[in-house]
Amino acid sequence: MSTNTITTASEFELVSGLEIHVQLNTNTKIFSSDSASFGAKPNEHISPVSLALPGALPKLNKAVVEKAVKMGLALNCTINQRNYFDRKNYFYADLPKGYQITQDNLPICQGGYIEVTLGNGSVKRIGINRIHLEEDAGKSMHDQNDRYSYVDLNRAGVPLIEIVTEADIRSSEEASALLTEMRKLVRHLDVSDGNMEEGSLRCDANISIRKSGTTAFGTRCEVKNLNSIRNVRRAMDFEFNRQVDVVTEGGTIIQSTLNFDAENGTTSPMRSKEMANDYRYFPDPDLPPMVLSDQWLDRVKAAMPALPSQITQELMENYNISNGEASLLAGDAELLAFFYKGVEAVKHKKSLINWLVGPIRALLNERALSIAAYHVTPLQLAEVINLCDDKKITQQVALQQLLPAIENSQQSNIPALAKSLNLWIEENDDELEGFIDEVMAKYPAQVSAYKKGKKGVLGLFVGEVLKMAKGKADPQKVNIQVQKKLA
Ligand code: ADP
Ligand code: MG
Repeated sequence: MSTNTITTASEFELVSGLEIHVQLNTNTKIFSSDSASFGAKPNEHISPVSLALPGALPKLNKAVVEKAVKMGLALNCTINQRNYFDRKNYFYADLPKGYQITQDNLPICQGGYIEVTLGNGSVKRIGINRIHLEEDAGKSMHDQNDRYSYVDLNRAGVPLIEIVTEADIRSSEEASALLTEMRKLVRHLDVSDGNMEEGSLRCDANISIRKSGTTAFGTRCEVKNLNSIRNVRRAMDFEFNRQVDVVTEGGTIIQSTLNFDAENGTTSPMRSKEMANDYRYFPDPDLPPMVLSDQWLDRVKAAMPALPSQITQELMENYNISNGEASLLAGDAELLAFFYKGVEAVKHKKSLINWLVGPIRALLNERALSIAAYHVTPLQLAEVINLCDDKKITQQVALQQLLPAIENSQQSNIPALAKSLNLWIEENDDELEGFIDEVMAKYPAQVSAYKKGKKGVLGLFVGEVLKMAKGKADPQKVNIQVQKKLA
C-alpha cells in the first residue's frame, strides 16, 4: 500500500539570488570615447573599438571604476584594489569581437550586504556575493526587414556593473524591496539613472525551492532579463508554484534558463544552461590588471555622500518620525534639501514633515512638479505652517488660497499677504455666534436629535458653520462653541 503524503505550497520555501545589471551613467563607453547615451539613431555611437576592427585596443574609462567602487562601498563590500578583466567567449551577431570583456575570477568588489525594510517593519539582510565590471553587447533587430536581421552597435561597450546577491532571498516581497532599495541607491550615488523601462536596471532571478526547515539548496532555474520590479515578483511567484507542482507530482527540477512572458505571467525554457567552461574565460591580454592606490580609494571614500539608510536612521532619531516618513524624505534628495532648509524656520518640526509628506507632496504630484521647481521657498512654507499652527489661518485656506497666492505674488511679507487677501481667521466671535444660530435654525430636527443623545450630528453643524465662515474660522474653536450652544 502506498502512503501518499499530500504536500502543499506552504511546506516549501523559496530560495533566490539575483544578478542585477546596472547600466552606468557615464558620458562615454567603458573602453572607448564613444558616447554611452541612449536614444541615438542606430550605429551613431561607434568607433573602431565598438566595431571590433582588427588592431583596435580597449582603454579603460576611469569614471566607470569610480562608480563601481562607490556602489561597492555603499554595499559594504571589500574593494579588490588589484583586479583584472577576463574574456567571456561566445558567438553572437551583436558581439563583433566574439567575446565580452567582463570580470570572472577577480571582480572589483566582493562580499558585502544590503539591508531592506519589509512591509511588516522587519529588516532583512541580503548578502552581496560580488560586483563586477563588464561591457554591454549591441542589439540585434529582427523586425526591420523580412529577410535580414539588423545590428545596432550603439550599446556595444556601454558600461555595466553586475551585482550578484547571495541566495538569501526568501520571498518575492524581499526581492522587490531589494530592487527598490538598489534603484534608490544607484540614483542617490549618481551611478545610474536606474530606469528599468529603458533597461538601465535589469535582472536575472535564480529560483529554487526546498522543503521548509531543510538547509540544502534545490536545483535552480534562472529567469532572464526581467525589466520591472512587478515582473520580478510575478516571475518568482509563478516559478515557485510551478516548481512546487513539479516536485509534488514526483518530478524533479531540471536546471534551465527561462524566459518570462509578461503578457501571460508565465515562464518557459529558453535553453539548457551552458556549462561555465563553455565560455572559456581567460584574462584579457589587451588590458593590464587594474591597480587602485590607497590614496585614490581614500579620496573616493571621503567623497561618499551619506546613504539613504543612514539618513533615514538619523531623521527617525532626530525628529521622532516613522520609518515610512523618514525613508520618503531620505529617498528624495530635493525633498530632503527642502526639509533641511525649512526645518530651521518652523516652530514645530513635526508639522513640516506632515505637510511635506502629505498635502505638499500630493499637490506637487498632481501638477507633476518637482519640489525644486515649486515657487514657494522652504522659508515661505515654514512661515505658512507657523501661521496655521498659531491658528491665524486654517490649513484648508493655506493650501487653497495662500500658497497659490505666494506662488504668483511679489509680496514677500506673508502675514500681510494673508491679511490683504482677507484670509485671517476671524476673531469676531459675534459673527461666529451669528453663524451658529443660523445653522441651529436651519436644522431643528438634528438639534433635537443631538439633545436626545445622537452626538454624531455635531460634525454637520461644525461643517456648516465653517462653510459660512468660508474656511476662516478655527475648526476646533467652532467645535467648542457649537457644543456650548447645544449644552
Ligand atoms: P552562474 O554564474 O552560473 O549564474 P552563480 O554561482 O554566480 O552562478 O550564481 C548566480 C546567482 O544564483 C547568485 O545570485 C546565487 O545566489 C544564485 N543561486 C545559486 N544557487 C542557487 C539556488 N540553488 N537557488 C537559488 N539561487 C541560487
Ligand atoms: Mg548567471
